[in-house]
Amino acid sequence: MVHRDPVERHNLEVGLCSICDHASHKVSVKGVAYWCCCRVSSETVFRRYPTLPVEKCVGFEIKTPKTTPPTARQERGPSGTRDAASESKGFAR
Ligand code: SF4
Repeated sequence: MVHRDPVERHNLEVGLCSICDHASHKVSVKGVAYWCCCRVSSETVFRRYPTLPVEKCVGFEIKTPKTTPPTARQERGPSGTRDAASESKGFAR
Protein backbone atom coordinates (compact mmCIF):
# COMPACT_ATOMS: atom_id res chain seq x y z
CA MET A 1 0.00 0.00 0.00
CA VAL A 2 1.36 3.43 -0.96
CA HIS A 3 0.63 6.41 1.30
CA ARG A 4 1.10 9.63 -0.63
CA ASP A 5 -0.07 11.94 2.13
CA PRO A 6 3.11 12.86 4.08
CA VAL A 7 1.18 13.31 7.34
CA GLU A 8 -0.43 9.89 7.03
CA ARG A 9 2.91 8.29 6.09
CA HIS A 10 4.64 10.01 9.00
CA ASN A 11 2.01 8.83 11.45
CA LEU A 12 2.39 5.27 10.22
CA GLU A 13 6.15 5.47 10.69
CA VAL A 14 5.81 6.85 14.23
CA GLY A 15 2.72 5.03 15.40
CA LEU A 16 0.85 5.94 18.57
CA CYS A 17 3.41 8.51 19.72
CA SER A 18 2.38 10.79 16.85
CA ILE A 19 -1.01 11.33 18.48
CA CYS A 20 -0.14 10.75 22.15
CA ASP A 21 -0.47 13.45 24.78
CA HIS A 22 2.80 12.32 26.39
CA ALA A 23 4.94 12.51 23.27
CA SER A 24 7.35 15.25 22.43
CA HIS A 25 8.71 15.73 18.92
CA LYS A 26 12.19 17.23 18.74
CA VAL A 27 14.68 18.09 16.04
CA SER A 28 18.39 18.03 16.86
CA VAL A 29 20.79 20.76 15.78
CA LYS A 30 21.88 18.39 13.00
CA GLY A 31 18.30 18.21 11.73
CA VAL A 32 17.54 14.71 12.98
CA ALA A 33 13.93 14.38 14.13
CA TYR A 34 13.13 12.13 17.04
CA TRP A 35 10.33 11.43 19.50
CA CYS A 36 10.55 11.47 23.30
CA CYS A 37 8.14 9.91 25.77
CA CYS A 38 7.45 12.29 28.66
CA ARG A 39 6.02 9.49 30.83
CA VAL A 40 9.54 8.24 31.45
CA SER A 41 10.04 10.91 34.11
CA SER A 42 7.22 9.50 36.27
CA GLU A 43 7.19 5.82 35.32
CA THR A 44 10.30 3.84 34.48
CA VAL A 45 8.48 1.24 32.36
CA PHE A 46 8.54 3.67 29.44
CA ARG A 47 11.56 4.36 27.27
CA ARG A 48 12.69 7.95 26.80
CA TYR A 49 13.16 7.26 23.08
CA PRO A 50 10.58 4.65 22.08
CA THR A 51 11.34 2.27 19.26
CA LEU A 52 9.19 3.35 16.35
CA PRO A 53 6.61 2.63 15.23
CA VAL A 54 4.85 2.22 18.57
CA GLU A 55 1.85 0.00 17.87
CA LYS A 56 0.80 -0.82 21.44
CA CYS A 57 1.43 1.16 24.60
CA VAL A 58 -0.25 1.03 28.00
CA GLY A 59 0.58 4.68 28.58
CA PHE A 60 -1.02 5.98 25.41
CA GLU A 61 -3.51 8.80 25.86
CA ILE A 62 -4.81 10.60 22.82
CA LYS A 63 -3.60 14.15 22.43
CA THR A 64 -6.13 16.74 23.47
CA PRO A 65 -6.10 20.27 22.13
CA LYS A 66 -4.56 22.69 24.58
CA THR A 67 -6.73 25.67 25.38
CA THR A 68 -5.21 28.81 26.70
CA PRO A 69 -7.04 31.85 27.98
CA PRO A 70 -7.08 34.71 25.47
CA THR A 71 -4.47 37.40 25.80
CA ALA A 72 -5.53 40.99 26.45
CA ARG A 73 -4.84 41.81 22.80
CA GLN A 74 -7.03 38.92 21.63
CA GLU A 75 -9.76 40.10 23.99
CA ARG A 76 -9.68 43.59 22.53
CA GLY A 77 -9.76 42.40 18.93
CA PRO A 78 -8.41 44.27 15.90
CA SER A 79 -10.26 47.48 16.75
CA GLY A 80 -8.62 47.70 20.18
CA THR A 81 -11.90 47.69 22.06
CA ARG A 82 -13.60 44.86 23.89
CA ASP A 83 -16.58 43.45 22.09
CA ALA A 84 -19.84 42.29 23.60
CA ALA A 85 -18.93 38.63 23.08
CA SER A 86 -15.76 38.95 25.18
CA GLU A 87 -17.60 40.74 27.95
CA SER A 88 -20.37 38.14 28.03
CA LYS A 89 -17.68 35.44 28.56
CA GLY A 90 -16.49 37.24 31.66
CA PHE A 91 -13.33 38.68 30.17
CA ALA A 92 -14.32 42.23 31.02
CA ARG A 93 -12.53 43.91 33.90
S1 SF4 B 1 3.10 6.88 26.46
FE1 SF4 B 1 3.50 5.38 24.82
S2 SF4 B 1 2.45 6.23 23.03
FE2 SF4 B 1 2.66 7.87 24.52
S3 SF4 B 1 4.57 8.93 23.99
FE3 SF4 B 1 5.08 7.38 25.54
S4 SF4 B 1 5.68 5.58 24.34
FE4 SF4 B 1 4.57 6.93 22.94
